[in-house]
Amino acid sequence: MTKVYYNGDANDQLLQGKKVAIIGYGSQGHAHAQNLRDSGIDVVIGLRQGKSWDQAVEDGFNVYSVREAADQADLIMILLPDELQPKVYNEEIAPVLREGQSLFFAHGFNVHFTQIVPPSYVDVALAAPKGPGHLVRRTYTEGAGVPGLIAVWQDVTGQAKDVALAYAKGIGAARAGVLETTFQEETETDLFGEQAVLCGGLTALVKAGFETLVEAGYQPEVAYFECLHELKLIVDLMYEGGLEGMRYSISDTAQWGDFVTGPRIVDERVKGEMKKVLEDIQSGKFAREWILENQSNRAVFNSTNRRENEHLIEEVGAKLRDMMPFVKQSQKRKEAVMTS
Ligand code: NDP
Ligand code: MG
Ligand code: MG
Repeated sequence: MTKVYYNGDANDQLLQGKKVAIIGYGSQGHAHAQNLRDSGIDVVIGLRQGKSWDQAVEDGFNVYSVREAADQADLIMILLPDELQPKVYNEEIAPVLREGQSLFFAHGFNVHFTQIVPPSYVDVALAAPKGPGHLVRRTYTEGAGVPGLIAVWQDVTGQAKDVALAYAKGIGAARAGVLETTFQEETETDLFGEQAVLCGGLTALVKAGFETLVEAGYQPEVAYFECLHELKLIVDLMYEGGLEGMRYSISDTAQWGDFVTGPRIVDERVKGEMKKVLEDIQSGKFAREWILENQSNRAVFNSTNRRENEHLIEEVGAKLRDMMPFVKQSQKRKEAVMTS
């Protein structure tokens, strides 16, 4: 088994008396900043003027331009949207970077795919909670934490890994357990997971099931419940007890259907396609297409998003959720189910 690091493995001293600049104050940024501050670490925020700036000030932080924050910090954690990071890094962070500073990320994409090329004289590391920012903050205030990953890209000081571990402790991740990975592994598995299983695979499965029932003449409302709404119950059971725990709770008929039909749906062809998806990630093909898509003002992204939002399952779902106050309630916390 891989080694799991906990609070006792981390050296707090490494961040004491140091200044951490959190660049960005969104989902991850607000959680890292508040947890580090509550862990006794000196935190400043780097932002542009706007909504997040006002929020960070309201939350009691000293807020600066990205350049000013990076300039005064010992450790710079970049928590901007991944697609905007290269521009902000090149224009505002790179010019002030100096020897002895640490450059941190919560996702390896830009470094691994060379959209950001850090200079040879700074430590470069990753510290990423395996969960959305609002959960990272909430669990911390409850005395717990969300598990995390650390990785080192470049170790100039010989302390990069220990600083990453101290950072992971500061945000509460080492209360739950921290695994060491590499920028490459974190980036490739993150992209694969969200494309093949968590987001892409799942939404396609749900839509195909819904469409099959509706095209066969069943009521869309009933199809929605069967193919989307009930997913949450199943996923919660899997989260708590793995596949076995989930199967323990469903009926034997459901379990028999699971055994005989699952492999007919996700068959060898689908698995072969997953391997191709992984190859496109590993080769940089996916990254290049996404980078070009952003450079072309997201022509495909935006039109696909519009069409997806017009799907019958969305129309039916919105009406049904309106009738279920308990579902609407948790929608207010919809960031809590966002994946990175
Ligand atoms: P968000 O979109 O939630 O937040 C982005 C922040 O960046 C906002 O505060 C925004 O402020 C600010 N910002 C945007 N553009 C600029 C700019 N030009 N100059 C200064 N500030 C700017 O991002 P996330 O927290 O989701 O993601 C941050 C990083 O964390 C990414 O690398 C992501 O991959 C990683 N990550 C995210 C997870 C998640 O669950 N969301 C999980 C694990 C890792 P404004 O209000 O002004 O727009
Ligand atoms: Mg059923
Ligand atoms: Mg991701």
